[in-house]
Amino acid sequence: MILTARDLLRKIAQDSGLDYPEVAKRVNRDMSKGRGFLQSVGIIVEQIGLNPEQYRLNPVSIVDEALRILRRDYSQTLMMSAVLARMVESDAKDALPPPAFFAFLELLSAIPDAPQHNKSERSVAVDEDTTRVIELLTTLVSLVCEWSKDGIRGVATDCPESLVPIARSVFRKTKLYQGGLWTCISCGRIVGIKETHALVCDECDVKMSRVLPVVDRLTSKEPERRVYGRADHGEPFKR
Ligand SMILES: [Zn+2]
Repeated sequence: MILTARDLLRKIAQDSGLDYPEVAKRVNRDMSKGRGFLQSVGIIVEQIGLNPEQYRLNPVSIVDEALRILRRDYSQTLMMSAVLARMVESDAKDALPPPAFFAFLELLSAIPDAPQHNKSERSVAVDEDTTRVIELLTTLVSLVCEWSKDGIRGVATDCPESLVPIARSVFRKTKLYQGGLWTCISCGRIVGIKETHALVCDECDVKMSRVLPVVDRLTSKEPERRVYGRADHGEPFKR
C-alpha cells in the first residue's frame, strides 16, 4: 500500500511514463494555487489520463504505519526524537517543517513509555526508519490539515474523525509558532520563542542541565510528559 506523497508521485510517474521531477513539478505548481496535495494530484492525474481513484492516500493507514515503527523499539524511538528535534531547529534546507514535528509529538504521546519487548536484533539503521517517519508525517499533515498559500488554515474537511484531535493540535501549535510562541515539549507551557533553549522553556532547560547527564535527559520523564535532550551545544532557540 502506498503511504507517502513521494511514493504516490513515483507511482504516477511510473504509470504515466513521465519523469518523477516532472510529475512533482506539476503537482507543486498546482498546489501553489492554494489546493491540497491530493486535490492537486487528482487534477494532474486526470490531465495525464489516469484514473484518480487509483491514486489516493489514507491518513489512517499512515498513522498506523508511523505508530508501528515508533512502537517497535523504544530506545530507537528516543533516538529518533532527538534527531527530529534537532532537525526542526535547523535553518538548513532539509529542516523538518514544524507541523510534521508537532504531529510526531502527538503520535509519541500515544505510545506506551515502557519498551514492550527487549531490544530487537534488527540491524536496520535508525536513519532509514527516521527518513520513513519523516515522509509519513509530512504526508500526514498535508492530508489532515487544510492548507493555503500561507500555510495551515485549519483542519481539512475530509480529515477522518479519529484524526481530528491530531490535526487540531498541529494547527494550533503551528499558529502559535508562527506568532512567535512555542509549546515547551517538556512541561507544555507556552512561552516566547526567545525564551526557549532548544525545544524546552527556560525553566525546564535549567532543571535538565542541572540534574541530568546528557544521556539520561533523553530517557527521563517529568510527570505526564517526556523530556528531551537539548540539541547540541544548547544555544538558544532562535527563529
Ligand atoms: Zn518547560
